[in-house]
Amino acid sequence: MSNLLIIGAGGVSRVATIKAAMNKETFTKITLASRTKSKCDEIAKFIKERLGVMIDTAAIDADDTNAVVELIKKTGAEILLNVALPYQDLTLMDACIKAKIHYIDTANYEHPDEAKFEYKLQWAKDDEFKKAGIMGLLGSGFDPGVTNVFCAYASQYLFDEINYIDILDCNAGDHGYAFATNFNPEINLREVSANGRYWQKEKGWVETKPMEIMFKWDYPKVGVKDSYLLYHEELESLSKNIKGLKQIRFFMTFGQSYLTHMKCLENVGMLRIDEVEHNGMKIVPIQFLKTLLPDPASLGARTKGKTNIGCVIRGIKDGKERQVYIYNVCDHQECYAETGAQGVSYTTGVPAMIGAKMIATKKWSGKGVFNMEEFDAKPFMDELMIQGLPWEMIEMKPGERYEV
Ligand code: NDP
Repeated sequence: MSNLLIIGAGGVSRVATIKAAMNKETFTKITLASRTKSKCDEIAKFIKERLGVMIDTAAIDADDTNAVVELIKKTGAEILLNVALPYQDLTLMDACIKAKIHYIDTANYEHPDEAKFEYKLQWAKDDEFKKAGIMGLLGSGFDPGVTNVFCAYASQYLFDEINYIDILDCNAGDHGYAFATNFNPEINLREVSANGRYWQKEKGWVETKPMEIMFKWDYPKVGVKDSYLLYHEELESLSKNIKGLKQIRFFMTFGQSYLTHMKCLENVGMLRIDEVEHNGMKIVPIQFLKTLLPDPASLGARTKGKTNIGCVIRGIKDGKERQVYIYNVCDHQECYAETGAQGVSYTTGVPAMIGAKMIATKKWSGKGVFNMEEFDAKPFMDELMIQGLPWEMIEMKPGERYEV
């Protein structure tokens, strides 16, 4: 039914590719291409052995738009799923415009030399996508991604008006290392060490220092964890697209060991993203740090515990105040047993595949560049239930908090 080209072969790609192969009635042809072809071949071998499904593999430099266009033509792909890095978003979007095929990613564009997350440059391609008659779906991971869909579901099916949203991302997994990041270290550390920010209708964006706002939240099926306010990219689109909103914030859990290590690395300059001279060579400290840290894809076998990511949403229904908590709980070891990847790759890779499935089955369609909350949330919510990320919903008392 649909011919899918997946770019990137890290942890997220591994899960998305396996899940696409499990949906072979939708994805009749799959090609996995990345910088290091051997990583694609290893995933292809796993899929052949586990599922008996054959996929094609190729080497590609995703920074080279023309090479990607050639690959699209060669494979006949109709949808490109970008699970490489955010640095490749623009070149891959340009390749899709040239080749006239649909585009999906899981993280907004970042410039390698500037730690800044915003949709501006991707939204600016809306006209070109419209002219090419294709659809771009931005941020189809968990957060952004599923969190946007949870908000859209609440807005479309549960509330007349939404006023307050807190997105709560808890990873209670333990990999046994003193310090490691559970997805690409460079992207992860740039995100966490940046200033925090949240949105209020009255004040617009309110900036905070990194880790300035914290509360202890009792996560269902996981327990109490320190949760810190961060800026996260879904805030930018949700603050525009959810009508009636008065405030939206994002919180993520961190253990003390992680924060102490990060502060120390920051203090000694290891999180710098500019070039420094070292023994006559130029190096970027954060890239060198990535070389030293465990590969996130290798954490799967060691990681135990659960994730709980969800949204506490408060608003009005039939003239009365209402508050719901919609979330997914995912077990790292179950993810590993199924795919050979840990929970963070799993919770991102599954919705990446579902986003591609929404386009392939035309349940979501349109010309231009879209965020997840702009479509009917129901078919995506249904797919989450059957593709490995079942969600739950608690009816809370309006204003109730699980803070301890
Ligand atoms: P990894 O670093 O594990 O994998 C990235 C892959 O992209 C690697 O295989 C890498 O190749 C490949 N790649 C990098 N540059 C190029 C290039 N120029 N050309 C071709 N291939 C390239 O990352 P993850 O799997 O952890 O993350 C993938 C994406 O998912 C990231 O964009 C991340 O921000 C996003 N993400 C989104 C989340 C969400 O909830 N929305 C949560 C977690 C991650 P090589 O193997 O050669 O290095």
